[in-house]
Amino acid sequence: MLLGAPGSGKGTQAARFASDYDVPVIATGDILRKNIKENTPLGQQAQSYIEKGDLVPDDLVIALVDSAFAEADAKGGWLLDGFPRTTAQAEALDVLLEKTGKKLDRVFLINVPKDVLISRITGRLLCPKCGRIYHEKSMPPSEAGVCDLDGAALTRRVDDNAETAESRIAVYNEQTKPLIDYYAAKGLLTEIDGTIGLDKIEDVIRETLS
Ligand code: ADP
Repeated sequence: MLLGAPGSGKGTQAARFASDYDVPVIATGDILRKNIKENTPLGQQAQSYIEKGDLVPDDLVIALVDSAFAEADAKGGWLLDGFPRTTAQAEALDVLLEKTGKKLDRVFLINVPKDVLISRITGRLLCPKCGRIYHEKSMPPSEAGVCDLDGAALTRRVDDNAETAESRIAVYNEQTKPLIDYYAAKGLLTEIDGTIGLDKIEDVIRETLS
């Protein structure tokens, strides 16, 4: 599981992880955005929360993870990105683990100072086609506004503006931070400095899991 504030680099590490390990990444934010794009009932319910930077209600997100766990590709395990985000979600996850006969191998907490989070979030660009994440200053595509991999026009998330970023970080501090103690108490937590560079972060994750 990857734990960390918005902009801490969970999604970037998850993408690297997915290409190496044969397990799906279950990223609740990505699944919710897909539902919004496809205008599903779940997407309609989630949209206003996401746009404001608030959390989507626990029952919706828990149901979503429950069904992701039931997919055939999740039988051999998974990587969780962005779930759980509240104590109620963590407790629901414990029930789902029991139900599916799985256990958490490790919880990685990626620590990044707030000023860095804000600049990462407000400069973030992503490819709507392949999901690759760029940053307009620190990780720009070769051609401005175009994905290096598939040539699609890069987009910005609706919630990646300065104001919403502030409230997402506040929500993280209030509602998600208590999970650090929750998983430390279970002996599952590995803390990583999220400013040491993508390759080094990946190395820590890989070495810890090996
Ligand atoms: P980030 O970590 O950068 O905020 P995510 O893609 O993980 O990006 O989440 C985007 C938004 O989706 C969140 O601000 C929230 O509204 C919603 N969301 C994602 N995961 C959850 C969750 N586990 N519980 C509640 N809301 C969630």
